Amino acid sequence: MKLPRRQILQLAAGAVALPAVSRYAWAQAYPARPITLVVPFAAGGPTDTIARIMGERMRASLGQTIIIENTTGAAGSIGVGRVARAEPDGYTVGIGHWSTHVVNGAIYQLPYDVLNDFDPISLVAANAQLAVVRKSFPANNLKELIDWLKANPDKASQGTAGAGSASHVSGVYFQKATGTRFQFVPYRGTGPAMQDLVAGQIDLMFDQAANSLPQVRNGNVKAFAVTAKSRLPSAPDIPTMDEAGMPGFYISVWHGLWVPKGTPKDITARLTGAVVEALADPAVRRRLDDLGQEIPPRDQQTPQALFAHHKAEIEKWWPIIKAANVKGE
Ligand code: ASP
Repeated sequence: MKLPRRQILQLAAGAVALPAVSRYAWAQAYPARPITLVVPFAAGGPTDTIARIMGERMRASLGQTIIIENTTGAAGSIGVGRVARAEPDGYTVGIGHWSTHVVNGAIYQLPYDVLNDFDPISLVAANAQLAVVRKSFPANNLKELIDWLKANPDKASQGTAGAGSASHVSGVYFQKATGTRFQFVPYRGTGPAMQDLVAGQIDLMFDQAANSLPQVRNGNVKAFAVTAKSRLPSAPDIPTMDEAGMPGFYISVWHGLWVPKGTPKDITARLTGAVVEALADPAVRRRLDDLGQEIPPRDQQTPQALFAHHKAEIEKWWPIIKAANVKGE
């Protein structure tokens, strides 16, 4: 077929314009199918719990199901890597936290950059950790635990979500601060580790309060301290680390949502909007409060605030973690 020159030019212009138009229409229609939220730790653990609370409420704002996918292993770096490599189309979102997006970058040779290979959506919630032991452990407070560990080197075991996870790094920090030694037992998340603590298979854990508070309330494990400057409003009986005798042992496991780098801005804005609506919902706030979560103020629920906090945390923690020589797997 022979086309006049003008028609050829029009067709060419149309071909150039088309992707932009359809990209716009595509973003308008977003989300047109279910969204996958990748949780880099096992089901039933603290990160998974937040993902499920948020996913359920974000579904109402976005009008699409949010499928939780637990892609686990290597302290969360397998699941985070899956998000880094996913299509930047808004259909793969990842939840992560202080250890997946800060600590892992300091101890693993990762095939992705923890800061620059993602577009931030929003901070979600921050959770202090609890020092907990199995119910039958022969200590009733933090001081007795430290004394027992000193008298019994290498006898106790601590559950972790893998080398470099928040639970592991806290245990290393505790060992260094107290001069104690015990074994680390890695799991694919602290959900299954908590089951083993309740069953008495392991002795102790440091993990997000969200994971242990329900077990503490049911009397299935004993909590000795919270790694925050003040007591948790939802668990005022548990002393702070300062009060329990380990001043300055503060760890806040803050969580965020990210998408692969290059996701269109109107799509990330819809996701941020869904997070903001979820965090404003009294039912969601109640559930998070009950798990000892601190919800960021409204002006922090932005991609910019997540990026700034993430960057500042890398600058603060990488030198500390590298100096502590925590080894990845
Ligand atoms: N947050 C836990 C950790 O890093 C793992 C989990 O969520 O299961 O230790």
